[in-house]
Amino acid sequence: MEINLTGKTVLVTGGSRGIGAEISREFASAGAKIILQYNTNEEIANKVISKLFGRGHFAIKANFENTNETEKLFKEISEKFRVDILINNAGIIEVLDPMTCSFEEWRKNWEKTISINLSSSAHLCFLFGKQMAKNGGGKIINISSRGAFRGEPNAPAYGASKAGMNAMGQSFAKAFGSKNVFFYTIAPGFVETDMSEKILNSSTGVEIKAQSPLNRVAMPWEVARAALLMAAEGTDFMTGCIIDLNGASYLRT
Ligand code: NAP
Repeated sequence: MEINLTGKTVLVTGGSRGIGAEISREFASAGAKIILQYNTNEEIANKVISKLFGRGHFAIKANFENTNETEKLFKEISEKFRVDILINNAGIIEVLDPMTCSFEEWRKNWEKTISINLSSSAHLCFLFGKQMAKNGGGKIINISSRGAFRGEPNAPAYGASKAGMNAMGQSFAKAFGSKNVFFYTIAPGFVETDMSEKILNSSTGVEIKAQSPLNRVAMPWEVARAALLMAAEGTDFMTGCIIDLNGASYLRT
């Protein structure tokens, strides 16, 4: 299936590295113009931009730990551009053991994770979703996680942020469907990126790969391809879906 996104403007959050960088490459190769949000890695973000297929792509900074930055980002972008597809991919995981951490550590970790992973994605869905509705339609793809279903004993805030993202996408799918704004969620298991590097290179790495009958974790481009499929024509009726991308390592019924 050939997917042609010529004429479409796509905002990819967390596009400087890992899955977001690969989504940016995949969507640019399909003809889209990419607006790539990054947080700290300006040089790396600009390097990704410089290597994308086509023209007119650019990088823009926002720190989603401060959720006010979502509205600032929205205003900066929508003054000049009309976003057709939003990909909420920026995220963090900070491991902490609830059995041993202090309440202060717990609260700090919870608030930071929820701000970046859930609240900022929700505000961007709200702001761009409404603008897309006014413009006649659009698509929003949220990058969630297998952890939403399986539990994250060493990162409860992360698991909760992704479960929230799943429910948020489903609610928005119902709220915006009549306005031709469609919501898709992709829930990957482990993916080979900076985020997972430490654990995959640790003694548990072999066990993690063995969770899948393919005996490996996903590559970032595999998540990017799934996102591209969601962006293709003919997927409107898939709105509200949550796609598992975990090599059968965790099956839901
Ligand atoms: P990554 O390689 O660590 O990249 C994270 C991206 O998010 C970077 O572009 C980073 O920007 C941006 N970011 C981090 N903190 C931010 C903040 N405070 N404000 C705004 N942007 C921020 O991560 P990844 O593995 O590609 O993960 C991408 C998404 O997939 C995440 O939502 C993650 O939860 C999800 N996911 C990943 C895995 C996995 O195993 N890797 C599995 C399931 C789901 P800078 O480069 O500027 O810091």
